[in-house]
Amino acid sequence: MEIHIIGNNVAGTFTAQNIRKQNKDVEIHIYSEENYNYYTRVKLPEIISEKRDIDDLIVFKEEWYENNQIKTHLNTKIKSINPDIKYMVVNESEEQISYNKLILAVGSHPNEPPINNARERLGNGVFTLRNINDALKIRRFIKENNCKKAIIIGGGLLGLELSKQIKNCGLDTRVVEFFPRLLPRQLDIDCANMLKKEVEDMGIEIELDAKTEKILANNTIEGILLKNGDKYEADIIFIQAGVRSNIELAKEAEISVNNGIIVNKYLETSKKDIYAVGDCIEFNNQTWGIIPACIEQAEIVASSVLGKNKKEYKGTTPKTTLKIVGIDLTSVGVYDPEEVGGGWEILKKADKSSNCYQKIVLKDNKLKGAILFGKKDGVSFVNKNIESEVSIEDIRKAIDAYIYKCENCGAEYDEVKKGIAFQDLPENWKCPQCGSPKKEFKKIEQ
Ligand SMILES: Cc1cc2nc3c(=O)[nH]c(=O)nc-3n(C[C@H](O)[C@H](O)[C@H](O)COP(=O)(O)OP(=O)(O)OC[C@H]3O[C@@H](n4cnc5c(N)ncnc54)[C@H](O)[C@@H]3O)c2cc1C
Repeated sequence: MEIHIIGNNVAGTFTAQNIRKQNKDVEIHIYSEENYNYYTRVKLPEIISEKRDIDDLIVFKEEWYENNQIKTHLNTKIKSINPDIKYMVVNESEEQISYNKLILAVGSHPNEPPINNARERLGNGVFTLRNINDALKIRRFIKENNCKKAIIIGGGLLGLELSKQIKNCGLDTRVVEFFPRLLPRQLDIDCANMLKKEVEDMGIEIELDAKTEKILANNTIEGILLKNGDKYEADIIFIQAGVRSNIELAKEAEISVNNGIIVNKYLETSKKDIYAVGDCIEFNNQTWGIIPACIEQAEIVASSVLGKNKKEYKGTTPKTTLKIVGIDLTSVGVYDPEEVGGGWEILKKADKSSNCYQKIVLKDNKLKGAILFGKKDGVSFVNKNIESEVSIEDIRKAIDAYIYKCENCGAEYDEVKKGIAFQDLPENWKCPQCGSPKKEFKKIEQ
């Protein structure tokens, strides 16, 4: 049997690896429009700041593919697919390649919000960052044009991580976010405010609720104009406003698509013997765009393609970690349920004096999500117990929260229920039961 995989990043490579683990005989071919073996996109911003070389990003070198008998076809764009006769066509050479099973691991591309003048200037002062070539172009542009001021449109994870590396290049850096808070898909408002302060302390300016209307440019980039009329100067602008699944190849082959390539629980598309995996898929009306989802799906699609022990995909709990040195932030699953009650419960400890925020979300005593900011302590607890029942005692231990007891009347102050760290209470705070001063409360060791 010949299995052909289009796309050679996380989803494609891990799928090939899982197929090979289960079957030593099938022929595996993997195609990439790019000219590199599987590399991590996570560290792309560090290519711009010259903290890393291309070689540092490559996860699987040539030997890995050879050892696993996976045939790579780099620099090879697949132009079209004919699902009826089961072949695909290579761009330019027009070579027709037959397949028994085809896996689409074609990924996603940066979203381009409607900003006047952005498309016209893309690649020439306005950039998105998705691959190694983008990073190299950006690095060159900064040097050749001696850039001094940068604007990053988008205060999500990628925007913030990029802003830190741009700042490291010595540019004045400003992040402009459409929503009224940073990381709108990962944080509640309280934590977003704490993060903002931390990022600003690194010398990065932040504008929230800021809708970019237009890129201002003549011969060179001059800055941006916001909808409210405010202008900010810049000589380089980045757009990091989320991603969109690559659906065109599938759509032209009349495979069902919506925001992504639609798959069932076996990651089969609407056409026989064609599967999809990774950033490009839509399952149960959801797309992901994160590595843990690619890895989980890669295992399932491998079993499906080989037709044995068919595992079912149920979706992946979103999990993201901000990778900026000096900031520990992880957001997992449901972090801000719309209504508390109906089984939902929030336990949290906001510790403003140490700029830490630890929030755990439960539904019917099961751990559904968390925000862990300022400390890494709770991360392994949350990863291990997501979707499982957890006790309030375990949560207290995991997030370093305590009960304080009034020595006079026995009243208790439970940090996870009150939400505020005991040490953050004002010095004139009094026991709500007997009026004793704060100093009469003693921590109960757990
Ligand atoms: C700067 C940056 C930082 C990130 N940081 C994180 C992070 O910290 N944590 C996290 O979980 N995720 C992160 N992500 C997202 C993560 O990289 C993606 O979820 C992951 O790369 C998706 O893998 P994929 O294999 O599905 O698709 P992609 O990585 O998009 O790869 C698809 C590949 O298919 C190729 N391809 C597409 N069409 C064709 C065709 N017709 N013919 C041949 N080849 C084709 C593309 O060129 C591409 O190489 C980050 C992304 C970026 C850009």
